[in-house]
Amino acid sequence: MKSIRLREGKERSLLRRHPWIFQGSIAKGGADAGETVRVEAHDSRFLAWGAISPASTIRVRAWSFDEAQRIDAAFFDARLRKAIALRGRLAIPSDGVRLVHGEADGLPGLIVDRYGDLLSVQFGAAGVERWREPIADALCTITGMSRVYERSDASSRGLEGLQVRTGWLRGDGATDLAITEHGWTLGLDVAHGHKTGYYLDQRDSRRRFAEMVRHFGCAEVLNCYSYTGGFSLAALAGGAQVVTSVDSSAPALALAQRHVQLNGFDAQRHRTVDADVNSHLRVCLEQGRRFDAIVLDPPKFAPTAAQAERAARAYKDINRLALKLLRPGGLLFTFSCSGGIGAELFHKIVAGAGIDAGVDALILRRLEAACDHPTTLAFPESDYLTGLALLVRG
Ligand code: SAH
Repeated sequence: MKSIRLREGKERSLLRRHPWIFQGSIAKGGADAGETVRVEAHDSRFLAWGAISPASTIRVRAWSFDEAQRIDAAFFDARLRKAIALRGRLAIPSDGVRLVHGEADGLPGLIVDRYGDLLSVQFGAAGVERWREPIADALCTITGMSRVYERSDASSRGLEGLQVRTGWLRGDGATDLAITEHGWTLGLDVAHGHKTGYYLDQRDSRRRFAEMVRHFGCAEVLNCYSYTGGFSLAALAGGAQVVTSVDSSAPALALAQRHVQLNGFDAQRHRTVDADVNSHLRVCLEQGRRFDAIVLDPPKFAPTAAQAERAARAYKDINRLALKLLRPGGLLFTFSCSGGIGAELFHKIVAGAGIDAGVDALILRRLEAACDHPTTLAFPESDYLTGLALLVRG
């Protein structure tokens, strides 16, 4: 068994069960991509079993802190069973469910989403890449499903020295399907949709938005970065009279429009705008438009902490514009899914936007990813999605 020796003092995070070991913490040792290594302290004490990623600054991701644990197919079977059993206990109101959320489920780099009767998976690190076949077999055995589609096309794979790979890993057939979320029918395509097909992480916030639109009687709603219109359906379900979905993806907007009809809402109540959100918000302001509720759910402006400053300006800008566009008493659901921007920083950014807009607002609720995207005590990095539900002071 190959081993990795850490520099003195660099064992601290592992002793706190944080699974990442950075390149700079390593004194000596190496292995091939994805190989299991014994990670030891400077005095050769056992710390963890991990998978090595020679191309990545996150050089090792720990599988286990138990010296007696063997890292074999049975290990992956057991971890997958645990993750999937947990979802069974979470009472998720959808048949679109994240079954495995990487590090938070003890499987660094692995994402498994269930969409109806198929699985969409992403191998995001050299360790899980090496165990791809046993993982695919175990997933079929545990879930009883026969179709697994691979979406290993996240840009972060490049940092791991891995090539993009997409296609059927098990089974075949049509890649488009429909799921039912909160009773709404949502079409998606695991081959062409964003991420593994859909933004499952916003499930709870979509329901919350429907409830608040109803509670506050919001009539005119603007859903920015709408993708296929999940929040737009929520607004319509909440009784909004007119909902506008804004996105820069024409296919996503076409699907949003189809979703409106598919779910029995009057198509006249929904409009789509194919535009850059920032520009569209400015146009709305120039035209003197006002809304009762706005959603801002932009893509990751800061994939890493290094881009946080530039991203902060971009977040502040759209939030300032949105706050200006809301009527007094209006509702803003605003999000960041940038790992580099924590909840506290996001709060500060939006507060700055409020000052610039000359608007104060109540925080009705802090928003986060749905519970099938868990954050663990040991691994706060999985807490990437943060948001605020704000009510503009009348
Ligand atoms: N709210 C959605 C998910 C949004 S994901 C849901 O609940 O499903 C972010 C979306 O922003 C993507 O659909 C992407 O096409 C869109 N997007 C990215 N940059 C954009 C820009 N500058 N202007 C408008 N839309 C943009």
